[in-house]
Amino acid sequence: MKILVINAGSSSLKYQLIDMQTEQVLAKGLCERIGIGGHLKHSPLFGDKPVFDEDLPLPTHSEAIAAVIDKLTSPEYGVVASMAEIDAVGHRVVHGGEKFAKSVLINDEVMAALEECTPFAPLHNPANITGINACRAVMGDVPMVAVFDTAFHQTMPGKAYMYAVPYEYYKNDGIRRYGFHGTSHRYVSSRCAELMGRPIEELKLISCHMGNGSSICAIDGGKCVDTSMGFTPLVGLPMGTRSGDLDPGVMQFLMHKYDYSIDEMLNILNKKSGVLGVSGVSSDFRDLDAAAAEGNDRARLALDMFHYWVAKVTGSYVAAMNGVDAIIFTAGVGENSKETRAAISSYFGYLGVKLDKEANSKRGQDIMISTPDSKVKVFVIPTNEELVIARDTRDIVA
Ligand code: ADP
Repeated sequence: MKILVINAGSSSLKYQLIDMQTEQVLAKGLCERIGIGGHLKHSPLFGDKPVFDEDLPLPTHSEAIAAVIDKLTSPEYGVVASMAEIDAVGHRVVHGGEKFAKSVLINDEVMAALEECTPFAPLHNPANITGINACRAVMGDVPMVAVFDTAFHQTMPGKAYMYAVPYEYYKNDGIRRYGFHGTSHRYVSSRCAELMGRPIEELKLISCHMGNGSSICAIDGGKCVDTSMGFTPLVGLPMGTRSGDLDPGVMQFLMHKYDYSIDEMLNILNKKSGVLGVSGVSSDFRDLDAAAAEGNDRARLALDMFHYWVAKVTGSYVAAMNGVDAIIFTAGVGENSKETRAAISSYFGYLGVKLDKEANSKRGQDIMISTPDSKVKVFVIPTNEELVIARDTRDIVA
């Protein structure tokens, strides 16, 4: 069975074609500048076909999907003979509200429910829906599955997902913590249980997804019990450009003083804040590491804040679960920055965490980076959201 995994953004579309017998990625790629020109980078990872990396007109997502299918099936760049070899499509969808606690086969009813979730993710869900519609138009009856970033977090208890505002905002308007990165937290937590050789049902895990966007998730017995992102992905940890948690009074103060509209204010909090805002250097942790090493105090402060917040939120989840068996680092920063992992782990002495320096310096593999006698284990597990989407799609279609 071969499954196409699609992650559609407003002007981009990422894809992977995965052979489910071997879970090998046959080809992957990225359409960019959809609607404002068009560019496709298609990389066959099977056979010795060349990479296609060129501008081509992509006025809408439909042309983008058609171009992807064309490349996947072309004699020169392709990895399958025809579209008939693609058995199903798995779509990443950002927000499933309270309607979707797991992945679902897409039909007209599901499409209507996705539209209803759009107000919760006005930037992301419309792009996801456009991607699904384009795929349905180009690929006809091929079964399709929606996999939600929010679904894994639907097991949170009310005490974790409720905001302490008048209850009717929850009841009437769906105001609550939803959480994001669920597919990633789900993947690394189940992989961690495998690596520990123990059933996930008996484990307390904390997964730290640290990329451009970052969130932490407390997973007790395989179920999410709390997570740091909220109603939107803006809160929790300070991120590349997002502020993370903030006293709402700050917004009122700045909006009055500088006459910002709410959109201007949110643009500052989403795009100009986080480690970029504090450092004035960059949102990229590699640049911050370099600047801090050269003595840039604000880069140092931004990094210190990030480490502190990860440690602080992790500690709160140890309290919430009354213990922890393992802490997991994943995503761009978590997988690549040994300095970040070491700095965060230095807060975990009270948990009996002992870091194995040599293991911590390795990259690109699932690895335990704590010493064998470390009371709480620490792992680096490269995330693989596409594989989760493909597996869910296979299971649902089968
Ligand atoms: P996204 O949240 O967009 O999926 P990723 O998980 O790919 O992002 O993470 C991207 C971030 O990972 C980059 O912005 C960069 O800060 C960080 N990163 C990648 N490689 C390194 C590295 N070697 N050291 C530190 N940070 C890194």
